[in-house]
Amino acid sequence: MNRHDYTFPFDTCERVSLKGSIAQPFSFTVNVLSCIVLFIYTRILPVASPFQYVLYSLLLFESWHCLSHAHHVSFLHHRFPTIIVHFLSYLIMISLFYAFMTKTKKWPSFSWWIPFLLVCIFDLYAVSHLSFLWYFCSSLLLFLWIFVAYHDFVWATKRRRRLIIMLFLSILLLSFFFILEVYFCSFFIVKIPFHALIEFIGLIIFLILGQLFLVLS
Ligand SMILES: [Zn+2]
Repeated sequence: MNRHDYTFPFDTCERVSLKGSIAQPFSFTVNVLSCIVLFIYTRILPVASPFQYVLYSLLLFESWHCLSHAHHVSFLHHRFPTIIVHFLSYLIMISLFYAFMTKTKKWPSFSWWIPFLLVCIFDLYAVSHLSFLWYFCSSLLLFLWIFVAYHDFVWATKRRRRLIIMLFLSILLLSFFFILEVYFCSFFIVKIPFHALIEFIGLIIFLILGQLFLVLS
């Protein structure tokens, strides 16, 4: 991995503002909206719902994300914000797994665990040795693999199926936009704060997840 690989938040595609106290105001604003949406869902969901843990993990993830766009701090190491974001994505996965397990009282089969653990090992290697797109793909794969383990539960009704399809389509769109950002930022940055568009798709994903958790609770 070389120093010029895409590093969060320094290489995100929005010009750093030279006036005002917020480094990337557009991305920051959309992230604040995402935090508000997630907080509202923590109030709407039943208090005892295990999906509350997922919402709080997402809220923590988004708060750090938001702070990173407000102030570009490379404390100790220039990859410090990236490593924290990646660690928080693990927290989201653990809480999602816990929520599904609590709801269904089912433990995934051995044949589910083998690929999961192999991708986990690859992901840990990728975050320390490979470029951004590798560990973005591996962490996304782990997240989606948890849904595969509990597909009977999440696919049980028409409403759940509709939300899952919307979620996967939004994630696909987000991944496509990420690839555009990594490879074509210099083309977009002249005209628009492109990263804020990605954040907007993220906001839609949080709305879908909030609805899904409400339906599954
Ligand atoms: Zn961002």
